[in-house]
Amino acid sequence: MTSDSDATRVVRAGLPDEQPYEPPLPGPVFAAHYHLPGEVAAAPYAYGRDANPTWSALERAIGELESPPGAGEEPVHTVAFASGMGAISAVLLSRARPGGVVVLPDDGYNLLVPLRERLSGLGVEVRTAPTAGDAQLGRLDGASLLWIESPSNPGLDVCDIRRLADAAHERGALVAVDNTLATPLGQRPLELGADFSVASGTKALTGHGDVLLGHVSCRDAELAASVRQWRKLVGAIPGPMEAWLAHRSLATLDVRTQRQAAGALAVAGALLDRPEVTGVRHPGLPGDPAHGTAVRQMRRFGCVVSFTLPGKEHAERFLGALRLVDEATSFGGVRSTAERRGRWGGDAVPEGFVRLSVGVEDPDDLVADVLRALDVAAG
Ligand SMILES: *Cc1c(COP(=O)(O)O)cnc(C)c1O
Repeated sequence: MTSDSDATRVVRAGLPDEQPYEPPLPGPVFAAHYHLPGEVAAAPYAYGRDANPTWSALERAIGELESPPGAGEEPVHTVAFASGMGAISAVLLSRARPGGVVVLPDDGYNLLVPLRERLSGLGVEVRTAPTAGDAQLGRLDGASLLWIESPSNPGLDVCDIRRLADAAHERGALVAVDNTLATPLGQRPLELGADFSVASGTKALTGHGDVLLGHVSCRDAELAASVRQWRKLVGAIPGPMEAWLAHRSLATLDVRTQRQAAGALAVAGALLDRPEVTGVRHPGLPGDPAHGTAVRQMRRFGCVVSFTLPGKEHAERFLGALRLVDEATSFGGVRSTAERRGRWGGDAVPEGFVRLSVGVEDPDDLVADVLRALDVAAG
């Protein structure tokens, strides 16, 4: 039986056909090599750097979420990586050619900055533009690859993925979307025209703050094969235990992201009423500059809220006073976290800028904790 509902799809995504007396989700397969008699060309599993049944099951599952199997449609190809950066580097570096032109966001994940330098060193022309206002449109002439991050991290700007993808394709460029923040339940880049949907599974996809993982999904078999070959060449492979934990976590992706999105909206709304808080951003807020575009292409708005307090010390007092929100980096986990992004350098944000990731706690409890911590911080 198939269903259009994410809630139903996630609990069985990627599971093998029922076998009497076998577990529904087979345990992790720990293998550096497999029994391999005779000819090797058709062997599905030969060596542990190339393929692993636990990855295969996870990749099938993520593929079903990235593009739910419809009538007559080919399943998408998904390649799991050891981390989000493994996945991002695989797309950007495997396609890097001297003279190629890559258009990146200038407000995306902060490791895009050193990657930019690497790409330039390989003879690639790198252009950047902000995510907001679809500004990357103006940089596409002659491009070979457009890289989109929407919503962007940490600024939470949103661009019109379909519009940018169409414009890039008209010019012969491929399109990749970093979909980490939204997860495939929040947004399906392949259905919005992207050639590659790329994400860190470390964040909301696995959601428990105990696994690093990444993936690339695409419809085109040759693009997938080239990404898979890159994984083999650099060895950026996920551990079987991580892949299995990730697959196990997918069953709760719907309930987690529903609750997190509801909590994020509640927290963002409460922050709007505070005079000392400025620049509250969350794509689900009706008044947010990103809301109009977000509503058209997203199905849920994610767990991240960003805002600015009057300065570094004020923000640190706030973070220190929170009881239900851990001071930690990363986002998307079941336990709420927050941090002052400026402590890292690298993001163009004010000193008092806070990125708060809402977990699965009771939204009323979280709002109360945030308001109490704001009172403490205000002195
Ligand atoms: C965290 C993050 C990454 C990097 O993922 P890792 O799993 O930490 O390697 C890439 N893009 C975005 C938007 C992220 O938030």
